[in-house]
This record gives sequence, C-alpha cells and structure tokens, in this order.
Amino acid sequence: MEKVSASWAGQRIKRGQVEKYMDNGRDFINEGLIHSQLAAAPKEPAPQQVRDILAKSLTVKDLTPEEVAVLINVTDKGMLEEMRAAAQAIKLKIYDNRIVTFAPFYLGNYCVNRCVYCGFNNDNHDARRKVLDQEEIKKEVAVLAGKIGHKRLIVVYGEHPRNDVDYIVESLKTIYSVRVKTKNGHASIRRVNVNAPAFSIEDLKRINEAGIGTYQVFQETYHKATYARMHPADTIKGDYHWRLYCMHRAMEAGIDDVGIGVLFGLYDWRFELMSLIYHTQELEKKLGIGAHTISFPRLVPALNSMIGPDWKYLVNDEDFKKIMLIIRLAVPYTGMIITAREKASIRDEAVLMGVTQMDASSRIAIGGYSDVVVAQAENKQQFILGDTRSLDELIRDLARKGVITSFCTAGYRCGRTGKCIMDLLRSGAEGKFCKLNAILTFQEWLDDFGSEETRKVGLPLIEKEIEQVKAKNPNALEIFMDYHARIKKGERDLYL
Ligand code: SAM
Ligand code: SF4
Repeated sequence: MEKVSASWAGQRIKRGQVEKYMDNGRDFINEGLIHSQLAAAPKEPAPQQVRDILAKSLTVKDLTPEEVAVLINVTDKGMLEEMRAAAQAIKLKIYDNRIVTFAPFYLGNYCVNRCVYCGFNNDNHDARRKVLDQEEIKKEVAVLAGKIGHKRLIVVYGEHPRNDVDYIVESLKTIYSVRVKTKNGHASIRRVNVNAPAFSIEDLKRINEAGIGTYQVFQETYHKATYARMHPADTIKGDYHWRLYCMHRAMEAGIDDVGIGVLFGLYDWRFELMSLIYHTQELEKKLGIGAHTISFPRLVPALNSMIGPDWKYLVNDEDFKKIMLIIRLAVPYTGMIITAREKASIRDEAVLMGVTQMDASSRIAIGGYSDVVVAQAENKQQFILGDTRSLDELIRDLARKGVITSFCTAGYRCGRTGKCIMDLLRSGAEGKFCKLNAILTFQEWLDDFGSEETRKVGLPLIEKEIEQVKAKNPNALEIFMDYHARIKKGERDLYL
C-alpha cells in the first residue's frame, strides 16, 4: 500500500480533546474496580436476588454494574430462562415486535492502522485495496435502494487520507442524492449511519452537517493491556484514550445518536460487558444522553488475522446469548445491533432476546453490491459473513415469527433523536409513532420489492397489526388509515 505522510498521521490526535473529558487525568474504566465487582458477585446468585434485578429492568431502569455482575454469574438453566423472558418482555414493551433493517456499505479498505484481527490492516499485503469513486458509489446505491429496497445504510470507512473527512462528506452527499426509479415511483436511501475512525470535534462537526444518523465507533476492547496488544502503539488507533473519548467529542460536535460497541473475543467478555455499562453511564452523566445503540460484534476469521482458533477469549454461543440478554436487561432503552457476522440461527434467536436492528443482503467486499460475480471474496472484504440471507428471505423468516420489519427513518427526520428519543423510549411513547411508521414502511417495501412468497406472509401480518392499532391507538387511526391507503395507491415516504 502507498506510504502515508507522517505529518498527516501526526496531526490526527488532538490531546486537548481527550484530556478535557478526563477526571483529574483518570478515565472512566477503572479496571481494579471492575475486577473487584466481578469477584464480589455470588458464584451462583440466589433466585430472589436475580428476580429483584429483573423486576427493576422491567420498570425500564438501568442496572448498576454490581447488578450486571450478578447476572453475569447466573448459570442455572431455569434462571437463564427467566432472564430471557424478561429481556423479551422489555423488548416488546419498548420496541414492540419490530426489527429495523439496514445494509452495511464499505466504501474503501485502505487503512493506516494495523489492528491484528482485521483483514484491512495495513500489514495485510494480500488485501486488494480500493476506494469507491462517486460514480461507483452511485452504482452501489442504485442496487441497494433500487433493487434490494434498503432505506438505511451503515457506511464503513478505514482510516486513511483517501477516505478522510472530505471524502466522507462527499460520499454522504452522493448517497443521499441517488434516486432510483422503481415500479411505484422512486426509491432512495433515507438514513445513513457511519462506522468510522475516531475523529476530532472539528471533523465530526463537518460529518454531522452532511446529515448522518448514528455515529458508531467500537472500543474493540476496554482492557488496556489487551488493547495495546491488538493495536500497535505507533498507529493512530493505538491510542486508547483518543478512541475512548470519541463519543464525548461526537456529542460535543452536535451528533445526538452515538453507537458504542465491543469486539467480543479479544478479552474476557465479562469485563467488556461491565465496561460497556460504564461507557453508556459515563455518556449519560457527562453529556446527558446514553448510547443510542450498542453493538456486540463477535470476532470472526479474517484474511491474515493474527488471532487463531486457539485464542483463549473467543466467546462461545451460550455466552454470546447471555451477553445479548444482559445488555437488553441492563440498558433497556438502547438499540441493539446484531450483524450478519453471526449465523442465521443465532440471529433468529436474537430477535426474540431484545435485539432491535439487523442487516440483510449484506455484501462487504468493496463494490460488492453491483458486482454480481463476487459473493464473498476473502481478499476484498474485512471478514467472512455468517448469514448471507437476502433481505426478502430475512423479512419472510421474521414475518413468519410475527415480527414486522421496519424501514422507518422518521425519528431522525422529525428531530426525534438524542435525549428526545431516549425520553420517549423510556416512557413507552415512542412505540406509538414507531409502530405506525413500521407498518407504513413495511407495506411500502412489500409493494415495491417483496416477492410473492414474502407478500403472502407479510400482508396478513399487516392486517393483524392494523387491528391492533384500531384497538390500542384510536387517536392516530384516522391519519394512519389515510396514509396507509395512499401508500397502497403508490404514494411514498409518508410518515408520522
Ligand atoms: N476503521 C474503523 C474502525 O476501526 O473504527 C471502522 C471500520 S471497521 C472496518 C468496523 C469494525 O469492524 C471494527 O470496529 C471492528 O469491531 C470490526 N471488525 C474488525 N475485524 C473484525 C473481525 N475479524 N471480526 C469481526 N469484526 C471485526
Ligand atoms: Fe483499519 Fe478499522 Fe480494520 Fe483497524 S479495524 S485495521 S482501523 S479498518
């Protein structure tokens, strides 16, 4: 890969934009405290203690780290089932039977960093490098919005001058500009979330002005010694604190919705889970809003990854499911994202355990959506996907379980973001808008993109949902029914 100037890399980290958030030079991940909280939790907690914690979650209150440590130690099958039931009840109470869907869109794989687990790392000379130009971006969006029917994307960038903030801003404008003709009018991408490196406040302001939904950066591991092992010290990403405080900077830059995450499998999952809780609580304490979403990608094999199958912290399926349950119980209002890194069976279960967002029809090779030949190519993509179901198939599978796929992007376009959305979620009022918009956007998608087989399952589900609106939300019924009828006649993008 071409050489990047030392001055470019040297100017990225602004020490003042880290130190200002620290407490007397200390960060919010107190490793000694976390280890002692984990050690202090009873080895197999008494059922009543667990039930008291579940009862608290069910009132939509955040759990304390001590309570999370107790749940981590539950191994009794009966108690795990009670945790599962509580997580499902919280999901239904706050988010109802909806899943929001999106597609990952990798715009380039140049990266100056050398994260040892990632196929894009600068030392991987077998990777074929590419950055999409604006015309190529349009071609990809034409497939994503016009053929598959996606309305939301998560765009993914490596850290490199070729996909620096100027490129990000331009690419976002290009994505929003694409309108594709469909059988019932036009389709376009309505919300773009960004998964990108940790930026400065100045850069984040520019990205925010280009109109993003959520800004996601995963800490990968909160454990400092492991972080240092995974991210060489002479790289930008090697700076633990620059990354740890990027969500503080994002909020200061005006980005309301931030997404945090751990790459599970790098270090002990118990420690990472506790740290996620500390991170969202720190954001709420210092900036007034917790994490809009929490992601929990699990390490998967990547080309030339230095982490092999014997790595001692890899997370098995049972523990992974427990992680999802505990996140749902501990932070009831946060969005939870599971990606197609996971196999279909785990993703199907996750829907019933509190997850709120998942991708589908995912292609993560650069240019993979418009390239019909390459399904998955190890030397072009960051890692290998576990669930390659199409959006149509996923929607059908979910509908068979009574789950409705939402393409709603109204919240962000009506200003229901940040603290506003959190308060609505906590009070249960957000469900009223979301349910209606979910039905409207689901109808729109089925009419524009659904196969006959999927429509056969999806349309009766919509009828059932409408009956529920009649019973539970009579005040909104008139306008909702008017919008629904207009969408069936071919009008698009109506929302409440
Ligand atoms: N380059 C940016 C960064 O690292 O923050 C953003 C893009 S990076 C491609 C997105 C995420 O992919 C990373 O934050 C990491 O959690 C995840 N990732 C990297 N390698 C992975 C692997 N082998 N398995 C699963 N997830 C991986
Ligand atoms: Fe680069 Fe992100 Fe991959 Fe690290 S995880 S090598 S920063 S693309």
